[in-house]
Amino acid sequence: MDNKAHRGSIQVLDCQILAHYQFEGDQYILTLDSPEIAKATKPGQFVHITVSDSLAMRRPISIMSVDTDNGTFDLLYKVVGEGTRQLAERKIGEVLSIIGPIGNGFELTDKKLPLLIGGGVGMPPMIAIAQQMKDTNHDPFVILGSEVPFPFTPELSKIGNPCPNASHTMPLLEEWNVAC
Ligand SMILES: Cc1cc2nc3c(=O)[nH]c(=O)nc-3n(C[C@H](O)[C@H](O)[C@H](O)COP(=O)(O)OP(=O)(O)OC[C@H]3O[C@@H](n4cnc5c(N)ncnc54)[C@H](O)[C@@H]3O)c2cc1C
Repeated sequence: MDNKAHRGSIQVLDCQILAHYQFEGDQYILTLDSPEIAKATKPGQFVHITVSDSLAMRRPISIMSVDTDNGTFDLLYKVVGEGTRQLAERKIGEVLSIIGPIGNGFELTDKKLPLLIGGGVGMPPMIAIAQQMKDTNHDPFVILGSEVPFPFTPELSKIGNPCPNASHTMPLLEEWNVAC
């Protein structure tokens, strides 16, 4: 793979916060306005965020999902230190400086039944690739692990729960009809 191929797509952008929800376990879902990032992102890529004026060093967060129709993208992050704590304080309507999308991202396999496994901060990239695969003839199966409750309501999948001991699935994946 040409590991410089993605560099032309990286931009520095001011993105407005459109939604910012807190969930159990100090987890947050942040929706940002950016038609450029929504259009350019490949699953597995991340953005570098300036979380506040007082912290110069940007924090990397993976892109969980994109909405190309509305020109937005979503991040799922957990508060672990000062940077993510300050990010959690940012309000709807505020603007964040974003560099991205960064990273090579994933290449889609031509195998029909891909297994996507992610835990903790490894969950958002799996959700991103599931979003891309739902529109192809792939039939992904997603396994997610987290030491804190998933940041979604604990509804069981309509397509049945293949793992009786796993009590949660993600409505987002359920909506896409992706087994989780
Ligand atoms: C490419 C990439 C993608 C990422 N994507 C995501 C994502 O989608 N969602 C997300 O929540 N995080 C993600 N992370 C991790 C995230 O960048 C860090 O959690 C964040 O930068 C921590 O910044 P902070 O200032 O809050 O904590 P710091 O002050 O840097 O750290 C505070 C304390 O937390 C510990 N710590 C730091 N990071 C973690 C962690 N991830 N888990 C447990 N303990 C930690 C440190 O060791 C330290 O003790 C990603 C990291 C990378 C490199």
